[in-house]
Amino acid sequence: MAHKQLQDALAEAATHTRHGAVASYIPELAKQDPDRLGACVCLLDGTVLTAGDVDIPFTLQSISKIFTLILAICDRGTDYVFQRVGKEPTGDPFNSIVKLETIKPHKPLNPMINAGAIAVCDMIAGSSVEERLERIMNLLSRMTGMQDFRVNEEVYRSEKLTADRNRALAYFMKDSGVLTGDVEETLDLYFRHCAIEVTSREVAQLAVVLAADGKDLQTGVSIIPRDVARICKTFMVTCGMYNASGEFAIEAGIPAKSGVAGGIMATVPNRMGIGVYGPALDDKGNSIAGVRLLESLSEIWNLSIF
Ligand code: GLN
Repeated sequence: MAHKQLQDALAEAATHTRHGAVASYIPELAKQDPDRLGACVCLLDGTVLTAGDVDIPFTLQSISKIFTLILAICDRGTDYVFQRVGKEPTGDPFNSIVKLETIKPHKPLNPMINAGAIAVCDMIAGSSVEERLERIMNLLSRMTGMQDFRVNEEVYRSEKLTADRNRALAYFMKDSGVLTGDVEETLDLYFRHCAIEVTSREVAQLAVVLAADGKDLQTGVSIIPRDVARICKTFMVTCGMYNASGEFAIEAGIPAKSGVAGGIMATVPNRMGIGVYGPALDDKGNSIAGVRLLESLSEIWNLSIF
């Protein structure tokens, strides 16, 4: 029954992909097929429901911002992290530079926008970029039970070569004392972790751990401290869908984080994790069919947390 509902909702949402467009400011992302759509639902009891293109790999992009935030808080504590990155939504696009200078003291408004996530990457402990990246992948492995996460080298290089905007954000933050480490190393970590490949099946598994307050579903062992999982879910509601977060909170009411490759990680507390992949984006940079699908599922299954 639920499986059929998921498949029907996906078929309806798929009719919306033609109204969106794949991201092209990272040239390699423009090669994605705009008509793809896949969704996986992982319930707290371990039941997995799938529909569409669930095994197509895509890059995490901004979904990665959740995992770096988890590690930074675990490494440095909330006081350190939130002295350097704010907790407020922006109303501006995810790569906006404008408020970095106008807000005093200069700090990015939240960890879900590019400036904030670059600042968070600067806080990840480790003696080299490789070691820090390894720690991020290790967290993903612990959350999914999957060992072989990899960086898509083409997407990584494509972003690194064209990232003038992110470089501008980072150098501004270095100048104003938000970044303390080597700027190019921090950016390198940021580009690499944005290019980690996942499938919507894996994103659903990541999401369900957050839904379970950070616990491993099978063993009940805590992977992420409960209060850190709570902070992540709160940011997902207030800032996870960029400057469409308010609208998505009203229409779907599900904590969610999207990425410009077309992924959305959605977490329904104590119920399920949902991973969606649909690379055709709307004008705010969210998967157009993915948003539509989550809104339908929210209505059919009564998923809104409000
Ligand atoms: N790597 C992307 C960037 O920095 C991530 C942005 C996103 O997914 N919104 O532009």
